[in-house]
Amino acid sequence: MKKTLVCILAAATVYGAMGQQAAHRTKVIAHRGYWDTEGSAQNSLASLRKAAEIGCYGSEFDVHLTSDGVAIINHDNDWAGAVIQHNTYSVFEKLTLANGETIPTLEQYLTEGAKYPRMKLILEIKSADSPEHESRAVEAIMDMVEKMGLREQVEYIAFSYHVCKEVVARDPDAVVAYLNGDKTPEELKADGIRGLDYNLSIARRDPGLFDAARAAGITTNIWTVNREDDMRYIIEHGVDFITTDNPELAQKIIAETE
Ligand code: MG
Repeated sequence: MKKTLVCILAAATVYGAMGQQAAHRTKVIAHRGYWDTEGSAQNSLASLRKAAEIGCYGSEFDVHLTSDGVAIINHDNDWAGAVIQHNTYSVFEKLTLANGETIPTLEQYLTEGAKYPRMKLILEIKSADSPEHESRAVEAIMDMVEKMGLREQVEYIAFSYHVCKEVVARDPDAVVAYLNGDKTPEELKADGIRGLDYNLSIARRDPGLFDAARAAGITTNIWTVNREDDMRYIIEHGVDFITTDNPELAQKIIAETE
């Protein structure tokens, strides 16, 4: 009886250690999708599909709200000088990306992403000129995510602290990480924000950031990490997520370091 108990405890310990190791495996997020490959383009539906095809943990994309309340996917605040938040969707709907696709709406993007339920949709809510427009964007975006049944698949990121707090206020279970690099892990934790998602230069300057985040129970994500030596540096420090334009290289290095 005693022997059986010891065996069970030993097995549980081994299982626990493996579980812990698995939990610490660095995960790869394709920055603006997997765009640096044949037939793709930044923030295109193709980049989302290609990130899923190579097995990324997540695919990141940027969302703005037009003046008439349509959420669209684009990195910059403007297209050829037309600022998205100050123009209607009609100004943008026929414009094409580098691979020939038209600029996706959030609805189109989420519809495509839902076909790959194992991949997280890392939704960046872009900053706007006013907290009011940001609040409208958060409401429109989160309503659509909810309506499409994608609450479990979507994780949020934002440079605007107002946006991060609005997301948490609307859904305390939402996974949201802050991008702007000027909050301590403790401050984020206190505001219900699950993670920090900081620039590589910050992680290089302050390697203690990773331990501090772990101590506070905050996840770590570093952007935009494209070089092998930088990938190795943050993996060695136990980073949770790498956001990169080169997801296949990151996957290869993670596999090697295991
Ligand atoms: Mg982004």
